[in-house]
Amino acid sequence: MIHFVGAGPGAPDLITLRGRRLLDGADVIIYAGSLVNPALLEGRKPSCRVYDSAGMTLEQVLAVMEQAERAGQDTVRLHTGDVSIYSAMREQMDALDRLGISYDVTPGVSALSGAAAALAAEYTLPQVSQTVIITRAAGRTPVPEAESLEALARHGSTMVLFLSAGLLEKAQGELIAGGYPPDTPAAIVYKATWPEERVYRCTVGTLARTARDNGVSKTALVTVGRFLEGDYERSKLYDPAFSHGCREAER
Ligand code: SAH
Repeated sequence: MIHFVGAGPGAPDLITLRGRRLLDGADVIIYAGSLVNPALLEGRKPSCRVYDSAGMTLEQVLAVMEQAERAGQDTVRLHTGDVSIYSAMREQMDALDRLGISYDVTPGVSALSGAAAALAAEYTLPQVSQTVIITRAAGRTPVPEAESLEALARHGSTMVLFLSAGLLEKAQGELIAGGYPPDTPAAIVYKATWPEERVYRCTVGTLARTARDNGVSKTALVTVGRFLEGDYERSKLYDPAFSHGCREAER
């Protein structure tokens, strides 16, 4: 059996209990060494074989999985953050389907959440934004045209950019061209939840300079939007004048 597991954003205690249990019992661990904290490998069985997928092709990863499966062993495929976002999990699953190898999925804490925690921020503030756009700048990996930063910026919502810290010169121009005023608050969160975590608050117009001045070109999330400011309306959920399924309004 292959277990796809989300490792969380970095801190070893931000993996789920289920993920931890699967790692502890694994015969084989294939982890994305470029981003997954190796501290997560501590506690594995002494006999567990460990592969860093950073230097491997999809075919090599599949060969390791197939061999383990033939030996009746359990494999954990450990991806950073949550497995549903930029993990390249799907192509592995499709290949496993073709090979008749079964798998399951254990979610993880995405860097999306790790960065919000580092900022002590809520992405969805009443009357500010009720939408989070999760995307990336187009680089060597293209992005569908309808999802260009310029097109997405028209919504003026909260936006979180993965995989884009090295592409901010172009990205900031597109964000502004799409409609974010250059003084829209922004933040770059480097290595959220790792000991090296750093938060750089800036504006959309100063994103590229901020990244450059601080030597940040990878392992960072870029967040954009007025959610980083102080202005919002209080929530209806906890408003004494508002009734809902669990509570009557006070008179
Ligand atoms: N599946 C992962 C994302 C993998 S894509 C998740 O859910 O978080 C890799 C990108 O994620 C990096 O380029 C960076 O933009 C972001 N990232 C991963 N870990 C991060 C962290 N601890 N802090 C900030 N960004 C991180």
